[in-house]
Formats: sequence, structure tokens, C-alpha cells
Amino acid sequence: MINKIFTIGLILSSILIAQNNEKPWIKAERENFVKMRELSKMMYPGDSKIDITYYGLDLAITTSPNYLTGNVTIGVKSDTTSLNTCFLDLRNFLTVDSILLNGSSAAFSHSNNKIDITLDHTYSMGEPFTLIVYYHGVPGGSGFGGFYFSTHNGTPIISTLSESYSGPYWWPQKDTPADKADSSDVWITVADNLIPVSNGTLESIVNNGNGTHTYYWKERYAIAAYLISLAITNYTQYNTYYNYSPTDSMIITHFIYPENFNYVKPYADLTAGMIEVYSNRYGQYPFLQERYGHAEFNWGGAMEHQTCTSMGFWGSGVVSHELAHQWYGDMITCKDWHHIWLNEGFATYSEAVYIEAKDGKAAYDNQIANEMSHARNANGTIWVQDITDENQIFNGNRSYSKGACVLHMLRGIVGDSTFFHIMRAYSDDPDLKYGVATTEDFQAVAESVYGQDLNYFFQEWIYGEKYPQYTIGWNKTLVGGDIYQINLNIYQVVRPNPSYFTMPVQIRFNTSLGDTTITLFNNAQTQNFQFQIVGNPQSIVFDPGNWILKDLQGVTEVKDLNIPLQYSLSQNYPNPFNPSTTIEYSIPKSGNVTLKIFNVLGKEVATLVNGQNEAGKHIVNFDATDLNSGVYFYKIEAGSFVDTKKMILLK
Ligand SMILES: [Zn+2]
Repeated sequence: MINKIFTIGLILSSILIAQNNEKPWIKAERENFVKMRELSKMMYPGDSKIDITYYGLDLAITTSPNYLTGNVTIGVKSDTTSLNTCFLDLRNFLTVDSILLNGSSAAFSHSNNKIDITLDHTYSMGEPFTLIVYYHGVPGGSGFGGFYFSTHNGTPIISTLSESYSGPYWWPQKDTPADKADSSDVWITVADNLIPVSNGTLESIVNNGNGTHTYYWKERYAIAAYLISLAITNYTQYNTYYNYSPTDSMIITHFIYPENFNYVKPYADLTAGMIEVYSNRYGQYPFLQERYGHAEFNWGGAMEHQTCTSMGFWGSGVVSHELAHQWYGDMITCKDWHHIWLNEGFATYSEAVYIEAKDGKAAYDNQIANEMSHARNANGTIWVQDITDENQIFNGNRSYSKGACVLHMLRGIVGDSTFFHIMRAYSDDPDLKYGVATTEDFQAVAESVYGQDLNYFFQEWIYGEKYPQYTIGWNKTLVGGDIYQINLNIYQVVRPNPSYFTMPVQIRFNTSLGDTTITLFNNAQTQNFQFQIVGNPQSIVFDPGNWILKDLQGVTEVKDLNIPLQYSLSQNYPNPFNPSTTIEYSIPKSGNVTLKIFNVLGKEVATLVNGQNEAGKHIVNFDATDLNSGVYFYKIEAGSFVDTKKMILLK
């Protein structure tokens, strides 16, 4: 999905020197997330005791007045050993007239936006049954999505957008992306000047002889409830073709407002070429036996309805984004909205993939740099913590731009060839294809193809926040001939979660004999590397390919690497203490330093340092024999650097 409101401005030879270790923050954060995940699962809509096999919507829609009368057939299997009741999600403002269970009337109640249905006997695990829900009313919108009666150029346009929680605003269903129907049918009866468009193939058009006609659309591929859609108006149909072999083609149906035809046609004409680009990289277009297409609708964005994207605006970026969703979003759907980046990050990254195929690497790099500029503004974890808030799910900086940067960074780690092998293996994974996935499913595929652990990467980027800030210091010593010994320090500013990022980082040395690029495995807050290169290095470039979402605060050739690159004040140790403790601080250049102790009232109780200090690391002992137990603060001032930390005296 692209929602214009959320995406304003979004227009859109390896040396491994150190090894990765598990970081304590990961464990704590993961345990916290697991708890939250269990909590959200309990609150999540949809009856977890049933398994949906089929949806059939038979809907009659009028526009004077705006009204819907219909029935929905739902194929169900019990997903528990003894099922006596089940429920469906449907908003209270729609009225349920009756429910048939295997053809016989069933008892039900409709409240709290749920239809509770009493079954005729106890169903065993896997036992199938069919429900038909007859209902009527004026379907509505949630404010985000739902069912819309509108007009364009004086003609009614009726359309739907169900992601993420708006499906029950117009039809009864199990409202979760986790449980796909194996297939779906949609029959739509409307006034015969309107053309109803839905998913899959058009099977029949029946003239009812009363000023209405009925279109029957059939989707034979598995489909999530939120991807079933309607778009209905006086469309002009324009067809193009994707030729996937010398003798075979697939139709691409563009349903366009008549008054927009000349404007839309150039974008429609791009679609076949885009399908080819993605098919070559992600595996064949997933719904090849049916179609792809677009249908215009009146919503401020676009939505990747399966086989038929709903379009509220046009551009190369949005056409490629929604098309890419047919692989990532529709064929493989995020199992729950926490993992929305598997839809939106992938589609956003795919915009850059199409740009690269069409306009080359420099255009790709430019697009990625643009995504990075948005991703730096992302707050919170890519794994969406609060899925009750659709603004959080569809956060442009985080789920879209930063999600796209994660795939770019993965490509940087594993290399181009392996990266696209991963994407194709993910598409082809029999457990995921036409099913649902979590971040861990994608990680497992990536690790399997790459052959190495990537847990550090997914943990810090999907379950961590922010991005690394690097400062680089280095120097060189002639060993003999053209061989130079390099000493290099990578320092990362302490970040909230994780405190530093583990990443392989590339460094290019511009030497008298040409360029040499090496890869270092950086997995510490501050880390020294020693290695030799051929040629006299004149300068270095950190991450020359811009593979990492980061800030680079400086790259400096320094005489002595023991001199710190940044001001810092460390936590005292031991802490709590009695009666003495040690405080360390570092200053990158000589100057005046004060280090003072204050009590909780802000009264100064001791001065440990006051005067000129040399650049380097300094260690001070604090003896609190004469002070009472309690909380104290120590404060450093050095140049423009000021920092305060807390310590506890326990006697
Ligand atoms: Zn999207």
C-alpha cells in the first residue's frame, strides 16, 4: 500500500578479522517482544479455532440509496479437537439476517463487531463445514479504509480497501492476514452502466433484465481476506500483455476512468516491462494463470489488491511498488501486522530494483540514498510494537524506507548474486509461497542461501532502533617494500538499542598503487584492527558503496590510536560502592577539565579534577569515607563536552 498522507516527501576481497558474539541486549529485548507478541496474539481479531478454506461474496450494491445486500459463503475447517461455536468479524452497523450452516439455519448473535455462531454438533479437528451469512446495510469506512461510495466526474465510484482492519466494515470474515482462503469468488450485481472489478479472472457477465447486471470474478490462488476488493464505476478497459515466453502471454487489464485515459495510459504501458524485471529477479509473476491489472479508485493512495491493484494516483514509483507487492504482500503475506515490513519494506526496496534495471546503478544508489534520508527519521523498531495503531503499522519512515534499507544492507553483506538468490528462494519456499511469513521465516531462508549466521543483522535492524554513528581513526607504518601496516579504530556513538551495531564494514584505501577495499567485521563499541596492505595509502573511504544506513562523523588520520576519538565519561566501578570507586573519562585533545561530585540536592561535595589534562584516557579514584549513604552524581566538563552520571554509596 502507498498512502499519500503517510508518504509525503517519500516520492517517493574480504578480510574477516573479528567474530560475532551474542549481545546481552538482544536477549532482554527479545524476551520483552515475545511477551508483547503473546499479548497481541490474544487481542488479535479472528477466530483462531477455525481454518478458512473459501470465501464467496455475492453482493448487490446500489447507489441511490447507497446500500449493500448480500451473502457470503465461507468454507471452514475446525482447527481444534472439539469445536462447538465459532465467530466471524463483522461490524455492528451491518445487519445479519440469517446464517445457514451446511444448508440449515444456525443460531447466532451479533454484537461487539462479532457474529457468534452456535454449531449443530461438536466438530473434530479438520472437520469441514460451510457457513452462508445473509446480511444488509450501508457499509462504511474506518477512517483509514473500508467501503466507499464516491463519485468521479459525476459518476458513482464504489471501492474498498480492507488493509489492515477494515474488511469487517463491508463483509463477514475471519479478519487476519494469517489465514488465507484457498480460493475466492465474487459476484457483484450493480446498475448496468457500472463495471464491477475484483480479483482473478472474469468468469461471466449476466444481464438480469432489470437494469442491473452481475459480474462473476474468480480467484483460484490462495488469498488473504484483506486482499479481496471491489472497484466499480464506468471504467474504460485498456489491455496490455506480458509476454512470458515466445508463444505465451498474460493479459494486464487496466480499468481507467474515461476522463483519465490519456493521462494514465503511459503508466499502464510501463507495467509489462516491470513484471518482466521482477519475474527475472523474484521468480515468475505469481498469478500468471490469471492476470495483473489496475483499477482506479477514490482513495488517497494505492493498494495492492491481489491481481488487481486499486490506484488513487499514478507514477512509475507507485506502479512498480504495488506490482512488487504481488510477490511480497500477496503471494507471501506478512503473518501479522507486526511484520508489515515484509510487505512494505520489500515493495519499497523493489522500487529501487526497478530503477536499477531501467536506469542503472547510479540511479539505484540515488534512490537508496533518498530512502536512507527518510529512514534516519524512523523511531522505534521495524517490528511494529503497537499494531492497534494503523499509523504505526504504515509508518513511512520505518516500515517503508527503513524496511527497504534493511534489504539494501542485506545485499551489501551477502553480495548481489547471493541476495537475489535469497529473494528467489524466499519466493519459492514451499512453506511460504501463497502463504504467510514472519521475519524469522525470511531470516531462515537468507541464512540457508548465504550459509552463514545472520541473526545479529536481523536482531539489531528489525528488533533494534536507530542506526550506527561511526567515527574512524587510522594510521600507517611502512613495513618494507610497498607493504604498509595499518592501524584502524572504529568507534560507534552509544545508541539506545542496541548500544552499537554489528556489521561487516567496507573500507577503501586510495594508495599509490591504486585502490584496495577490505571488509572488517565490526562488533564492538570501539574496536582496533591491524592489517597490512600493498601501496602507500593516501586516504580512506568508509563504506564506499553506501551499504549501511549510518552517520559518518569523521575519518581522521591520527598519530596515536590510543588517544580517544571522542569525549566520554564512563560509569563508575564498582557501583554501588563503599567507600571508594573508580571513574574513567577520555578526552581527544588536551584542555581544561573539571570532574565534580554532587549530592541529590545538587550541592557540590567533592572536586576530583580541576585543571589542564593531556589527551587520552584518565582514571580517577573517589573516596567517600566521609559521606553518608545515598545517591550521588559526578559531572565532567571538558571543552564543550558536559556529561553527568549517577552512582550509589552503600555503607
Ligand atoms: Zn505498499
